[in-house]
Amino acid sequence: MKRVAIIGAGPAGLMAAEAALERGARVAIYDAMPSPARKFLMAGKSGLNITHSEDEGVFRSRYTAPDGRLAAMVEAFGPAEIAAWMKGLGIETYVGSSGRVFPVGMKASPLLRAWLARLGEGGATLHTRHRWTGWGERGALVFDTPEGETRVEADATILALGGASWPRLGSDGAWADILAARGVEIEPFAPSNCGFTVDWSARMLAAQEGAPVKGVALSAGGRTQRGDFVITQAGIESGAVYPLSAALRQELAGRGAATLLVDLLPDTEEGTLAARLGGVNPKESASNRLRKAAKLDGVKAALVNEVTRGAPPREPGALARLIKALPLTLTGTAPIDTAISTAGGVAWEALDERLMLKAIPGTYCVGEMVAWDAPTGGYLLTACLAMGRGVARFV
Ligand SMILES: Cc1cc2nc3c(=O)[nH]c(=O)nc-3n(C[C@H](O)[C@H](O)[C@H](O)COP(=O)(O)OP(=O)(O)OC[C@H]3O[C@@H](n4cnc5c(N)ncnc54)[C@H](O)[C@@H]3O)c2cc1C
Repeated sequence: MKRVAIIGAGPAGLMAAEAALERGARVAIYDAMPSPARKFLMAGKSGLNITHSEDEGVFRSRYTAPDGRLAAMVEAFGPAEIAAWMKGLGIETYVGSSGRVFPVGMKASPLLRAWLARLGEGGATLHTRHRWTGWGERGALVFDTPEGETRVEADATILALGGASWPRLGSDGAWADILAARGVEIEPFAPSNCGFTVDWSARMLAAQEGAPVKGVALSAGGRTQRGDFVITQAGIESGAVYPLSAALRQELAGRGAATLLVDLLPDTEEGTLAARLGGVNPKESASNRLRKAAKLDGVKAALVNEVTRGAPPREPGALARLIKALPLTLTGTAPIDTAISTAGGVAWEALDERLMLKAIPGTYCVGEMVAWDAPTGGYLLTACLAMGRGVARFV
């Protein structure tokens, strides 16, 4: 019987374990934390968005990866297969109004409980508090455990060690140095689906820190996203910014700053707005004009003032243009610790067609530790599950 060691008990590792069991392997799962899948459980706290119901072509276009390896795995195990798999574990799914797919009940814990029970019944063993630290002589896997160092021999190893965000949940990215020392190319980690920093003025922060900016449309890199965002001490934070994070990160890398265009009134045409602004007595104060003609006050008016340094244009056309595309300068990304996911990781060039490390035969990589990126919307978990399932065919 082939001995398969899976290191990392997140969704990618657990799915690899399940698929390897189905193929008749003897499976042992290892994780550094005292309990498995902590990030998966955290994802379920705000509603486990496990996949998305949109058209297949659009779905696939959400992923950033250099070739078709990830797409092929997602095609083989995508939204329909995930829903069927969950049903098999006794968890029904439902499609939210945005097309996002959730388990009925929203939480990850019932799904995880049923999943772990099935893995155990199938013969998989789970070893928690086992921190993998590398390889010993003759290729044995080395783990730090509360009882001291232990060594494990396996015929194949699947690494599913996660990215580098939310390190307190287990995925701390420390594996990158272990693999780099063995000649594996690692793309630098970068926060994805993250907040961004803004150099707010003291006045803006004093009055607006914590204020939600509601019902706006945000644009960057040719993409627009409707939603809300929050003014934070460091900058801005919100789910509406996440889908734009790849484009914004790229712009930041290129010129050290990025521009987020904020449409403060996405349901009002620019011409209509200009006409309304033109109808207000030009002697009125800037804030009165914004309030009377555009119903902009509070944090939205403060944003106009902040971006124009207290001097919004008086000419109605120019002011309307600004309200429809307020250029907010982002100075950086929020720290990776707070990001939903991680871009970068094991370079695709370091992996062969089967996701095996070219430099370390018999060792495969799956999940967020590999250098692909996707927005929130269920795409992250779908890819992790699909990679876990896909790789087991090869071990
Ligand atoms: C707050 C939050 C909400 C999210 N919500 C969603 C959502 O709704 N939908 C969605 O698609 N995605 C969501 N995500 C992202 C999603 O949870 C991750 O993409 C996914 O968990 C990654 O799976 P993984 O198996 O690759 O890695 P992880 O889930 O990170 O698991 C990696 C495992 O490896 C273990 N490990 C790491 N290093 C070692 C080592 N040296 N030795 C032993 N074990 C080790 C860790 O302890 C961990 O258990 C969310 C993320 C966060 C933080």
